[in-house]
Amino acid sequence: MLQFQCECGNKTAFFATSDYDEQGREVLDIEDEDCVSYVIGEESVEFKCKFCGHRYVLPKFISYSE
Ligand SMILES: [Zn+2]
Repeated sequence: MLQFQCECGNKTAFFATSDYDEQGREVLDIEDEDCVSYVIGEESVEFKCKFCGHRYVLPKFISYSE
């Protein structure tokens, strides 16, 4: 569904779990937790490659309206 691929070639994917939250959104889980770690902060989501240590950040953007 969503794929993470580091510049070192390490990659893993997020998959849909068939579980839904109270807002009707399907919950994602990570395929291989040994490949990447992520930290969800107030302003961003940070991904860290567990192979080479390279870090990526997904900044918080203006939220879209319903
Ligand atoms: Zn890497």
